[in-house]
Amino acid sequence: MEDIKTDIKSLSLEELKAEMKKIGEKPFRAKQLYEWFHVKLARDYDEMTNISKGLKEKLKSGYTYTALKIVEVQTSQIDGTKKYLFELADKSLVESVWMQYHHGNSVCISSQVGCRMGCKFCASTIGGLERGLTPSEMLDQIYAISKDTGERVSNVVVMGTGEPLDNYDNLLKFITLLTDENGLNISQRNITVSTCGIVENMRRLADEDLQITLALSLHGSTQEKRRALMPIADKYDLDEVIAACQYYFEKTGRRITFEYSLVGGVNDMEEDAENLCRLVSGLNCHINLIPVNLIKERDYTASQKKDVMRFKERLEKKHINVTVRREMGRDIDGACGQLRRRHHISDHTSKI
Ligand code: SAH
Repeated sequence: MEDIKTDIKSLSLEELKAEMKKIGEKPFRAKQLYEWFHVKLARDYDEMTNISKGLKEKLKSGYTYTALKIVEVQTSQIDGTKKYLFELADKSLVESVWMQYHHGNSVCISSQVGCRMGCKFCASTIGGLERGLTPSEMLDQIYAISKDTGERVSNVVVMGTGEPLDNYDNLLKFITLLTDENGLNISQRNITVSTCGIVENMRRLADEDLQITLALSLHGSTQEKRRALMPIADKYDLDEVIAACQYYFEKTGRRITFEYSLVGGVNDMEEDAENLCRLVSGLNCHINLIPVNLIKERDYTASQKKDVMRFKERLEKKHINVTVRREMGRDIDGACGQLRRRHHISDHTSKI
């Protein structure tokens, strides 16, 4: 049987200490290594100057060390946003985005290779799910970008390819490591996890005693409208999803963000705005309107600018917190998952 090596960068400090004991090393080595992995963001063992050659050899032969390879970087000429395409050890590709805001630098990471949720307007789901990312593969998107830009990351959004709550245990471990005071020490309040609405796991997350923000991809203000865009709505009724949001707020005190991608003539009309107001009334929430990014595999149209503004005004009139998402990196491969997809397609054609 093939020996599966331990992924050393996914271990907590305590687990790493136990591992050192197992291989006959002193516990303080764990702290040194952990710092190289999660603070100094070393790309390989050779950078780790205070680690003996003997220990490095043991680590190289007994463990895997995750360090994603940058395949392509696209930089926006408009706002400096950067899109990264990374290759994982098994040659899978994932993409991440780096954005600079006045309140700090933000990274949007992927949680899976591909996705099985099937949302109708999303490019990430077209090839289906390949696999979930390990905690270290999620972390290293941030680490590699931080190293490449030479700047500190203050905010992390799990809004790239994949459904984070479909990779629950790895997501939780990732959050624990990312917010560890011995590691990068990112504040829980600066982390947002976006879900299409997997109800059991939203409730589970609410019970974890975390201070992260939960974003719910709504996209439809009635069960029927939501079902037309999101197959996951066949499984969970809108009422159940909203009740889970309410529960999340009650347990954590964190205001829910609703994401609502506006698709021309599908969910951007007056009655949609009115139903949306009714749906969220009484909930402490914020609504983020996203003019849909068009992907060439689907023939949707984006809402016109005036319809977006009218939709926003209708919500504002009912005193709902609403913003239209600033389009970052408009000039580089638009919608989620498109950069990865373009590579997949060219890989394919080059093989034919
Ligand atoms: N699976 C998670 C997170 C990934 S997608 C989720 O569903 O929330 C992050 C957000 O981008 C989601 O709200 C998703 O619906 C939205 N999105 C995906 N493709 C889009 C597109 N082409 N245009 C606008 N929003 C899109």
